Amino acid sequence: MLATLGAYESIVGRQEIDELRWLADQLAGRRIQHVNSTAVGGGVAEILTRLVPLCRELGLATRWDVMKGDNAFFAATKAIHNALHGRPAAFARAEARAFLETTVQNLRAFAWDGDVVFIHDPQPAGLVQARASRGGRWIWRCHIDISSPQPGVWRFVQRFVTRYDAAVFSAPQFTQRLPIRQFLIAPSIDPLSDKNRELSEETIRDIVRRLGIPRDKPLVTQVSRFDRLKDPVGVIEAFRLVRKAVDCRLLLVGGGASDDPEGAQVLAEVRTRAHGDPDIVVLELPPTSHVEINAIQRVSDVIVQKSVREGFGLTVSEALWKAKPVVASAVGGIPLQIAHRHSGLLCRSPEGAAFAIKQCLNSPSFAKRLGANGRAHVRQNFLLTRHLRDYLLLIMALEHGEDVIRLPSPRA
Ligand code: UDP
Repeated sequence: MLATLGAYESIVGRQEIDELRWLADQLAGRRIQHVNSTAVGGGVAEILTRLVPLCRELGLATRWDVMKGDNAFFAATKAIHNALHGRPAAFARAEARAFLETTVQNLRAFAWDGDVVFIHDPQPAGLVQARASRGGRWIWRCHIDISSPQPGVWRFVQRFVTRYDAAVFSAPQFTQRLPIRQFLIAPSIDPLSDKNRELSEETIRDIVRRLGIPRDKPLVTQVSRFDRLKDPVGVIEAFRLVRKAVDCRLLLVGGGASDDPEGAQVLAEVRTRAHGDPDIVVLELPPTSHVEINAIQRVSDVIVQKSVREGFGLTVSEALWKAKPVVASAVGGIPLQIAHRHSGLLCRSPEGAAFAIKQCLNSPSFAKRLGANGRAHVRQNFLLTRHLRDYLLLIMALEHGEDVIRLPSPRA
């Protein structure tokens, strides 16, 4: 069952919830529409699953539409995704055509009734064409790292991006030269979702036993879609270096997202690399395995996120919220979440990751302190209620069209 707003008071305090209610009152009557390209799997779906019901509870009519496309479209959008992350990608005329044709089909399929429309990431970016007939305020919410994109593909996407009222990025280094307003809003995790809520020892034990995860050795875990940008093969490399010094086990947990056609290929590669090593467990879970991932993160001794590129990396905040020591690459939004040696350890290579993992395994008190600091940092900065407040303020900022918004006093 989904938690209601009042339930968050015990975590973030009454004042923060009152403030959300008051801000939503100022926006009464607005209809909000979110569009992305997958209902499950990946960080955006994770966030919208919780943000949308909470917006509704605040009295704002909110809908969430998921773009539909065929294999050719998702192959094209995966190429765009990789290219915007600065990676090599095959994006040529055929991919552009698949992108544009699917965009037109979805333009016709949706009811465009939002006064405020959030379009998430590049896949649905072309839907901004609907604003010509429908109007409203349009926001391109970019969750990925576009700090050094392949120029040709960025020019293709930029044609659409410049038609929005505003672009929202997760970290300052992702911003671009654009003729529209840009905002910084970090993503968030939901402390009361199945992925993050407290679990009893008994529940954790049952889940882990059911999944067949042995607990006889310290557990080093990465939870991620099987995607090259998450570098699962690099994690195996780091783990093999760790194991020369410390007996432990690696758990690679992942699943697919319906908008990610490369997953099966990467998973096969990971299985080949792990083959014959009883200390490497590769676990493929359905995308709805939230409570399972929660339990896995809680029984892990160290959580790794060795991404090559990253938008924000929700898995880092998820692990820190569970007070776990996290070893993660210093890429994308990860350094926003981890202050090195204070709320986790940052790394830049398999050797660096191995060194950091060993430090955590060999020094439990240090690891515990990193986890405790990480949890406090997430409480302050990366919970859903802060995210919701930022979106409400963003809508107000766009409606006011000036830098300073003068609001009536809450007591007036
Ligand atoms: N996730 C999941 N199952 C998996 C892999 C990932 O539920 O098999 C979740 C993970 O817990 C996190 C989200 O998907 O909530 C991934 O978000 P992140 O920002 O880390 O990466 P993205 O997949 O969006 O690039």
